[in-house]
Amino acid sequence: MSKRQLNRRQRWRIEKIQQERLARAAKKQHQAEADIAHDLEPPQTGLLVAHHGQKVLIEAEDGNRHVCHFRANLLHMVVGDEVIWQAPKSPGDGVVVALAERKTVLKRPDYYGRLKPVAANIDQIFITFAPAPIPSTQLIDRYLVAAELAGITPVLLLNKADLIDPELEEYFAETERMYRHLGYDVLRASATSATGLEALHQRLKGKTSAFVGQSGVGKSSLVNALLPEANLNTQGLSSTSGLGQHTTTTALLFHLPKGGRLIDSPGIREFGLWHIDEHELLAGYPELANLAGECRFRNCTHRHEPGCAWQNAVAEGKVHAERLDNFFRIADTLDSHQRQRYHD
Ligand code: GDP
Ligand code: ZN
Repeated sequence: MSKRQLNRRQRWRIEKIQQERLARAAKKQHQAEADIAHDLEPPQTGLLVAHHGQKVLIEAEDGNRHVCHFRANLLHMVVGDEVIWQAPKSPGDGVVVALAERKTVLKRPDYYGRLKPVAANIDQIFITFAPAPIPSTQLIDRYLVAAELAGITPVLLLNKADLIDPELEEYFAETERMYRHLGYDVLRASATSATGLEALHQRLKGKTSAFVGQSGVGKSSLVNALLPEANLNTQGLSSTSGLGQHTTTTALLFHLPKGGRLIDSPGIREFGLWHIDEHELLAGYPELANLAGECRFRNCTHRHEPGCAWQNAVAEGKVHAERLDNFFRIADTLDSHQRQRYHD
């Protein structure tokens, strides 16, 4: 028997020592947690209004905002989340201890292509378009599909209405007709000439909203027009100063002066269609989804087959040709593997 081998008694002693060590460590940990708990107020509900990676800004029911840290299992909390948190008894950070169930969640892929939440509990998105940059109904449709899949109410917002001259009027009136016919609300506004803002305020009341759309359509201008600058500072920048200088804000939640909440972030503005298949794409095309099972061939691709209900509906003016065209163009950009699965 080698000298290095332990006999039963030695092993028993070492195990005992290890157990005692573990017990002492556990007791210490327990004591530390008890100490922290002792310094914290009872749990209360709150709203996550800004996320800075390591810390979050939580708005209490009384409207005051508190810098909080959070447990590692709450890593994926996002702006708009309802949380349970505890305020400190003496000056310092609070702690977020739990996350409420979400009504809706917007996701986008991270650097590695994995879908990550970017905002929670958004009720409606304003799909913003304008005479300039040149509008694309395909892009509008993409946002509509994404909104429908996320269970968020979409509202179309035609900004820069001041730039619509009589020549352009015909095009935009037709676009508005096309979407209104499908049941979507379409508003007109001008951030720079401050028209249509009152109607916008009314639509924002009592809801949590976000503006999405192509760069340059006037989303920042609209947010600024709806939210006086003083408001922006008190709600956004100054109250996040406790989070440190070198933190980047991913998203912010603002309270609008006439009621309603606005969540704004670059990530939300660009939110789009990720990892969906053609079947899911149909969620944004109710007029096509309604024709399910009406084509002559069960595996109809709706592109060239005789007796195609989709093509017939376009010919009869029941479905807008532009919408069908958009559907095909978007479908062509979807992963071919997923498309195959749908037609099997
Ligand atoms: P964002 O990229 O969607 O946030 O767009 P911005 O708010 O930065 O606006 C892009 C440009 O459009 C800026 O030069 C704005 O001044 C201009 N703009 C925004 N809203 C309006 C509008 O209602 N009418 C006109 N004529 N220009 C606007
Ligand atoms: Zn068909």
